[in-house]
Amino acid sequence: MSDNPAVAEAEQIVNEAAGDGAGSEGPKFTLELNQDQQDIRDWVHGFAEGVVRPAAEEWDEREETPWPVIQEAAKIGLYGFEALGQFWADDTGLTLPIANEELFWGDAGIGMAIMGTSLAVAAIFGQGTGEQMGEWIPQCFGDADDPKVAAFCSSEPDAGSDVAAIRTTAKYDEANDEWVLNGQKAWATNGGIADVHVVIATVDRELKSRGHAAFVIPPGTKGCEQGAKVKKHGLRASHTADVHLDDCRVPGSCLLGGKEKLDERLARVREGKRSKSQAAMQTFEASRPTVGAQALGIARAAYEYSLEYAKERRQFGKAIIENQSIAFALADMKMEIDAARLLVWRAAWMGRSGQKFENAEGSMSKLKAGEVAVWSTERAIQILGGNGYTREFPVERMHRDAKIYTIFEGTSEIQRLVISRAISGVHVK
Ligand SMILES: Cc1cc2nc3c(=O)[nH]c(=O)nc-3n(C[C@H](O)[C@H](O)[C@H](O)COP(=O)(O)OP(=O)(O)OC[C@H]3O[C@@H](n4cnc5c(N)ncnc54)[C@H](O)[C@@H]3O)c2cc1C
Repeated sequence: MSDNPAVAEAEQIVNEAAGDGAGSEGPKFTLELNQDQQDIRDWVHGFAEGVVRPAAEEWDEREETPWPVIQEAAKIGLYGFEALGQFWADDTGLTLPIANEELFWGDAGIGMAIMGTSLAVAAIFGQGTGEQMGEWIPQCFGDADDPKVAAFCSSEPDAGSDVAAIRTTAKYDEANDEWVLNGQKAWATNGGIADVHVVIATVDRELKSRGHAAFVIPPGTKGCEQGAKVKKHGLRASHTADVHLDDCRVPGSCLLGGKEKLDERLARVREGKRSKSQAAMQTFEASRPTVGAQALGIARAAYEYSLEYAKERRQFGKAIIENQSIAFALADMKMEIDAARLLVWRAAWMGRSGQKFENAEGSMSKLKAGEVAVWSTERAIQILGGNGYTREFPVERMHRDAKIYTIFEGTSEIQRLVISRAISGVHVK
């Protein structure tokens, strides 16, 4: 435990949240939300409706990080390690997807500006020691007076789906107990504007992804610079940029998990023993439903908007919803969204209660929710007709935002690869 009271509190929260979610009896699965879950859902929904939605169009047009909205979220305690710890602590696993769905229902670009930090936090939480969690997680968020964001940098220009192709190197300088990082990261959410960057680098390229390690780059470290900012189709309130690492030196203590653990792991792999790739796979599977829940929020927003529109809009002397083609489209949207939510909740529950993802249920949830979001938002545009195609109405923004959910955090094709390998045991290519 740290001497610093703020850090000690953070350590306690993350350690409690990291506790065995299954408990001795295991969490009971129910679709009936408990009072805490309902309260959190309503609280996040209120923020999404009152603060996020009214700001959505402006920040999409500006294509800038909506710092005032992040600050509002920090002021009410929605942006910060306490909130994330509270969401994680729910041993049914449902609170995190529920909160994400509500926030992204408000707006996905702003939602990602608020939740993007959690990618880096999840890496520190998943791979860091208790001390590293306590030190770095609070710094990822800053505080309500001066909020900060964090970035998780894995992708590179030549290493997207093929994560094993990462070229950024980390070399250990034993004399100074420092790691020296060199390379270029691509597509980093909050890249360059973050205080804390978590960077995946290779310490031994021959070992491919088994030679990777994660490093924290502390705020203001020399040699860590933002490259080009990406102009995007959607999610435009969320900053995306390249990050350049040029002889970037960080203390030895910035290697997540510590050197001893890394050396042991590398030795095991070099001896030809199985590494913990299975554990990494479990981690991915456990984080995917949260991403799926974000897509669900967008899909639900588009569904609700187009349902109301279809009841109001009159053509040929009647509301357009009186036509089966419109009403059936809405019925299918509702059904697909609910089906996707069930997959998301199942995978979230499995992840939190330590079930084995034998059929890649986490990938299933992200794949389904992402594709439902793209399809539903496209349907919503169709239901609004010409209005749907304009920036005067929000569904075209929702459609632009939804598309990223078949691309990042593993494309739809990669999710299908993971699922097909899991169900068949065959190394499908
Ligand atoms: C807005 C945005 C934010 C992002 N945020 C982050 C971030 O914070 N941190 C980070 O590290 N990365 C981030 N990314 C990167 C993202 O994870 C990658 O874009 C994604 O993994 C896909 O990689 P790629 O773009 O290189 O596509 P590629 O890997 O080049 O894929 C191109 C196409 O080929 C297909 N394909 C590739 N391999 C196969 C295969 N074996 N079988 C079948 N099809 C295949 C893909 O499915 C895709 O359709 C972000 C990207 C975007 C656009």
